[in-house]
Order: sequence, then structure tokens, then C-alpha cells
Amino acid sequence: MTKGKGVSVGVGIGKILLVEEHSLEYTPHQAEDLIGEKARFKSAVDVFCENTRAQAESLKITAGEKEAEIMLGHISIVNDPFLLGEVDKQIDSGTCAEAAFDSMCEMFIQIFSAAEDDMTRQRAADVRDVRAGVLRLLLGINEIRLSDAPAGTVLCAKELTPSMIAEIKKENIAGIVTETGSSTSHSAILARVLEIPAVMSVPGIMEAAKSGDDIIVDGGTGEVILSPDTEELEKAAEKRDRLLKERRELEKYRGKETASADGTVYELVCNIGKPDDAAKALEFDGEGVGLFRTEFLFMDKTSVPTEEEQFEAYKKAAIILKGKPLIIRTLDIGGDKDIPYLGLAKEENPFMGFRAIRYCLNNPELFRTQLRAILRASAFGNVSIMFPLITCVEEVREGKALVETLKAELKAEGIAFDTNIKVGIMTETAASGIIADLLAEESDFFSIGTNDLTGYTMAADRGNADVSYLYSALQPSVLRMIRSIIQAGRSKGIPVGMCGEAAADPMMIPLLISFGLTEFSVSAPSVLRVRKCISEWTKEKADKTAEIVMSLKTEQEIRDYLSTVI
Ligand code: PEP
Ligand code: MG
Repeated sequence: MTKGKGVSVGVGIGKILLVEEHSLEYTPHQAEDLIGEKARFKSAVDVFCENTRAQAESLKITAGEKEAEIMLGHISIVNDPFLLGEVDKQIDSGTCAEAAFDSMCEMFIQIFSAAEDDMTRQRAADVRDVRAGVLRLLLGINEIRLSDAPAGTVLCAKELTPSMIAEIKKENIAGIVTETGSSTSHSAILARVLEIPAVMSVPGIMEAAKSGDDIIVDGGTGEVILSPDTEELEKAAEKRDRLLKERRELEKYRGKETASADGTVYELVCNIGKPDDAAKALEFDGEGVGLFRTEFLFMDKTSVPTEEEQFEAYKKAAIILKGKPLIIRTLDIGGDKDIPYLGLAKEENPFMGFRAIRYCLNNPELFRTQLRAILRASAFGNVSIMFPLITCVEEVREGKALVETLKAELKAEGIAFDTNIKVGIMTETAASGIIADLLAEESDFFSIGTNDLTGYTMAADRGNADVSYLYSALQPSVLRMIRSIIQAGRSKGIPVGMCGEAAADPMMIPLLISFGLTEFSVSAPSVLRVRKCISEWTKEKADKTAEIVMSLKTEQEIRDYLSTVI
């Protein structure tokens, strides 16, 4: 078994078709007949555009309008006036069409590859695709006809380009495995839209795979099994069929409002860790972002990201979300999240130590930088600020006071921001649960972090296997804590959401509906499943369930009872 990055969920079982690229090498030569050479180039570009347009048309039917635009983008690349003008100039100076076009594409590829963000770097792959297409036509090389691939084919390629994917017959392709690529590449996006299981960045797959051999591709786990045995094939087939059935059922919920069976509408948003994940949230039909864990921006660096770097990251997520909610949580380091360059001292009890809001309030420069960046990004969307690990009123007041000072600063500097930006808190400590009524008077919203709330309520470390039997959000104590937080928030008129893992637990959902939660923030792939769960409950039925659950005395009794009603 080998492993890569699972970029499109589902299990594919089939026979390998190795997509080996023809060499596009050519011998640069002196163009003698300059007019003829230009005509040869123009005709290659015309045929390329014609083929690409046909691919876009077929993609429009199989994948949709938006995806077809990826191919139409290739037409724009090849018709770029600067590129065409430069190719013309080079041919005028005697360079052959192949070399002229190749060198100009190479220049674009270098520029895109050097970009900071992943999305722009992926555009280099599009230019490579265009270059290969036009060079093949100039060199008279016959393309590999992927449209002829028989049913049950698993494509193995070094890099699969969008034009190759546009050519395939979706029903014949059981899976895709590539040696390069990432989940944000266009081919990964297309694979997801076409619902073809895909694993990318599998090292050495072109060496190891042989056309015609059996293969299993698991686009969820990233596992690839070459020449599987009967038992592996049976297990994979079972998983494939189960996933397909689930997916068919869940697709009914795409594009729908998140509402209970009696019509109460809820907000169903996503937890993200990187700005680009905002696009993933939308792709999975999330209605915004309920938790942007900003510590990943800090973890990916070797020093504190500057205000400008953070501003760009938050702004990017805000722009992607186009006015949909984006709750940005301020730095939540410490506990299990270390950032070496901050030089945090080793502590006896890191989970009870100098972390999250405590660290930020004591490092005002670092906190100022982050809050200024978030405030500036708020001019570009529907942004809110959220403080983690709140345990007392002073922390909220101090954090908000700093926000107010920075607002005044930005105003004086003439920098735009949302003057009505909401400032909420995570209720994830036992203390915050107990004084939720006091905190509700200081906060614009609550988001319950059950991952930590469970640990702090049960005094059970979430990563310690020996106490994992205690670590459950269905413990009566944790459920009472959740109920009292929601009730406190509701009675003070502020919205209460949940961004801990429990928000996606089918056993928890009826209880949350009954308690009055208004927002569920879950991982992107859980969106449709949670929407379905919510749609299955009325308030009346949820209340009856909650009443029984809250009268039970042990986690096991609660779990046993809930398993009979979901
Ligand atoms: C939580 O504690 O529930 C939460 C969402 O935050 P994190 O998992 O990042 O601590
Ligand atoms: Mg937490």
C-alpha cells in the first residue's frame, strides 16, 4: 500500500491505465519562411481553441458551467495579446514557432510558480497544459485518447491536466492517481465535481504501476493499493458501495436551507485553518465560516506573521466568502499547540497554563498586530472577532478595550474597517460555563468549544487515552454545561453557536435543537450530513428527547437511549 493526498472522496476499484506523456522535445530551428511559420502557429492555436471549446462544452454538461470555465480559461491564456505579440516578435527574428511559444509559456510558468499563494501557483499548471496542447499540435503528436478508456479504468499519471479530465467519460473512470498535484489544483477540483475518487502526490506511482493491473484508490484516506488481494478487494467494494449510497442520499440537501422538520432555520457554517479552506467550505455547501483557527498561519512560519501577511490571509478568506459570515478566532496557542519561535516556557500543566487569550493579553504587540489585521480585513466581508479560552469577565473587557483602541487608531489613519464588527467569545472552559450569564452581557455571541469544554469540565485531557472513557460531550455534566451556556446566551439575547466536534454528532443534534443553539460550525465534509440530521427533528420531538436525556444519570445510559432514537 502507498499513500498520497486524498483529494476527492470515494473508493475506486479498477484496472490501471498509465497515462504516459509523449515527449514534447523538438529541435529548435531557424524559421525561414516567416509568414508560413506564423500561419503554422496561428493554425495550431486555432485548432487548440476549437478542441478546447469542444471540451468545455462537454464539461459544461458533465460537471457544470463553472468547471467549463476552467477550460475556457485556457483559451484566454493562449489568446493573451502580450503572449501572442511576443511569439510573433520572436518568429520575426527567425525563431521557430515551437521555441517561441515554449519560451513565452515558460516565462509565465516561472512567474506563477513563484507566487506566494497556492491558487496562483496552480495557474502554472494551466499554462503547462496549454503549452503541451499547442506543442502537440505543432509537432503533429497524436494525443492520448482518454475518451476511449474502457469502464472501470483508474488513470495513473504524473500530472493530470484539466484538459485530460475534460476529455474523459466520467462513467468509465473509477479513480485517479497522480504523482504530483494538491487538493487546490484544478484537476482535484474537477475530480471532486465529477465525483471521481482521486489521490494525488503519490511518490513513485508511475514506476510502480503497470497498465492493466488491479488497483484500489481511496480518495478519503489517500491510500492506494496496487494488485490487491481478494480480501482487500471485497473490503474496498463494500466501502465504495456504502459511500456511494450515503452520497446519493446527502446530495438531496445541497443548496437547501438548513432547517428543522418544523421549519426553524439554523446557520450551518464550517471550521477552517487556512484562508483557502474558505473555498472548500463553500464547495461543501457551508454557509460561511464559524471558526477560523488562526494558529495555523503562525505555525507555518518561522516568525510571527506581519500585520500585512495576516491582513492578506484574513482578507482572502473574507473575499472568498462574499459577505457570508467569517468568525476569526484570535491566536489560540499553548496546550497542545506549540509555536516554537514564540519560546513558550515548558509548563507542568500546559492546558491550565499561559495560553490563548492569556498569552495574547500579556503580549500586546502580538495581539495588536493580529487584531489590526482582522479589523482591516473586516472592510472586505462579514467578519467577526472571537476570543478563545475565556474564563472571566476581565479578559473579555480587556480584549474589547484593545479592539476599541485599534478602531480609533485605524480611523485616525483613514483605514477602512467594519465599525460594527462583532466581538464574541468561545465558551470552552468550566468557568465560562458557570458565569455564562455574566459573559453574555459582555459579548456579541458565544461559540461553544466542546473539544475543550469536555476536557475542562471532566478534568480529562483530550489526548490522554487512559482517561478517554471520561472524555465525552455526552457526559451529564458536559450536557448541563452546554444547556446552561445556551440558555444564558439566549436569555441575554445573543446568538449561541457551537464549533467543537460535538456540533456534528447526530446524537447531540436533537439536544442542541432543544436547548436553542442557533449556529452549527463543523468540518466542511460534514455539512450535508449535519443538514440532513437537523432536518429530521422537530422542536417538539427534540424537547421530548432532551427531557429524557437530561434525566439520565450516566453517559452510557444517555448514549444507549440516544442510539434508539437516531
Ligand atoms: C474547541 O475547543 O471545541 C474548539 C473548537 O477549539 P480547538 O479544537 O481549536 O481547541
Ligand atoms: Mg478550544
